[in-house]
Amino acid sequence: MALDGGVEAAADLVAKAKRVTVLTGAGISTDSGIPDFRGPQGVWTRDPEAEKTATLSAYLADPEVRRRSWRNRLESPAWTAEPNAGHRALLELERQGRLVAIVTQNIDELHQKAGNDPRLVVEVHGTMHRVRCWACGWEAPMAPTLERVRAGEADPACEVCGGILKSATISFGQSLDPQTVRRAEAAALSCDLFLAVGTSLAVYPAAGLLPLALQAGAAAVIVNGEPTPYDDLADAVVRGSISEVLPLLVATRPDGRPRRPGGGP
Ligand code: NAD
Repeated sequence: MALDGGVEAAADLVAKAKRVTVLTGAGISTDSGIPDFRGPQGVWTRDPEAEKTATLSAYLADPEVRRRSWRNRLESPAWTAEPNAGHRALLELERQGRLVAIVTQNIDELHQKAGNDPRLVVEVHGTMHRVRCWACGWEAPMAPTLERVRAGEADPACEVCGGILKSATISFGQSLDPQTVRRAEAAALSCDLFLAVGTSLAVYPAAGLLPLALQAGAAAVIVNGEPTPYDDLADAVVRGSISEVLPLLVATRPDGRPRRPGGGP
């Protein structure tokens, strides 16, 4: 993917920032082999029917949707995916002492796997690495339930109450955890730069964090392969490959010279 002219403006803003809140979406993980939903090669772009598996009412009402979801989970490339240069650049931002938080819509835990402090990662859409019972609230690591699916249970029931199991992720039609939303908003309100990366900025309330940060006086930079509804509001927009752009952005010093990796603010 070619870089566009916004890189210099974005690098300048990132270089000067002292408190950066990052919002990440599925686009930061595509170079780790996990497809996004709405990008050109996205899961829903290629198969609009697949959106049903992410809709709570369909998941709860239709055993066939659940069976399909479990097959998809089993086959997900996310279980073996490794962080890429984009994730590592955000770790560098933390090492420089400038990261307020990574608010992520991703459910793949690749920021934690890259080495970011889990306390700085706000997972607004939950995690696929845990399973939760919709009836009794029982929650556990995902792996043993996936083993049951692999062993032939197409729609495994809760071990405690027999209820419907689902990954501990937020589906369409499902409320977000209010405390997690408050943490995300606090991070947007307390930064001097809001950096949106690899998100179509089409899903709320996550997309609303960018205007919230702007209202509180922060600058905003968007790095994404395609246009977003907030491009006109941002101070800089870079249309390019995230794993190429982010390392450039975090490695630039306020005077335009390269930073030493891990060299502090
Ligand atoms: P999205 O699919 O709506 O948008 C992703 C955006 O990233 C697209 O605009 C696409 O053009 C861009 N993009 C993809 N690869 C890129 C690259 N290498 N460089 C630059 N840009 C790139 O994703 P979203 O905004 O996160 O919202 C979709 C929902 O999907 C979220 O709720 C999230 O929970 C979920 N999701 C998560 C994962 C994951 O955890 N990795 C994967 C798929 C979907």
